Amino acid sequence: SNSTMAEFDYLFKLLLIGDSGVGKSTLLLSFTSNTFEDLSPTIAGQERFRTLTSSYYRGAQGIIMVYDVTRRETFTNLSDIWAKEIDLYSTNQDCIKMLVGNKVDKESERVVSKKEGIDFAREYGCLYLECSAKTRVNVEQCFEELVLKILDTPSLLAEGSAGVKKNIFKEIPPQSDASTSGCCSW
Ligand code: GDP
Repeated sequence: SNSTMAEFDYLFKLLLIGDSGVGKSTLLLSFTSNTFEDLSPTIAGQERFRTLTSSYYRGAQGIIMVYDVTRRETFTNLSDIWAKEIDLYSTNQDCIKMLVGNKVDKESERVVSKKEGIDFAREYGCLYLECSAKTRVNVEQCFEELVLKILDTPSLLAEGSAGVKKNIFKEIPPQSDASTSGCCSW
């Protein structure tokens, strides 16, 4: 079949936020393709951080807040700028947040301790993990733990709640009976 439709039960909107260069693109690539590609920094130096619009946040069920354990300002910007923006714009009150300290493969260059990460996560009320998009340590866990928590939060799964669509792309089985073709229900 040349159908491009995929079958699934839930469609979640997850956001990856944090300063440029912390490894957001690499994390996503590492999770989806099981490889590490050394990406040249997407927007090298042009902007250390850029706030996003409210429409970007609207309807998100999960937000991954990424910092680089070797660059302190990427950590402080999460509490000073990004967390405030999330609180302002995210429309799902129960939206699950996860703090992720990336680049733990560069242990000798670490400047943000694990304890600082844990303390911030506790204070802000979010999940916490350290990972390396390069070595893939904890990469799958980041996405899995976030999704498991979303699946465990009934208000985020309610049908009709913003962004959640149950079986919207369910494939329509081929119909031999011409009278029913073009009809679908799910
Ligand atoms: P983004 O701007 O947040 O999307 O960051 P990128 O994904 O473009 O990554 C910025 C740079 O950091 C790139 O050169 C990546 O190869 C590198 N990088 C990303 N993740 C890691 C990691 O876990 N370890 C190391 N050593 N480098 C990484």
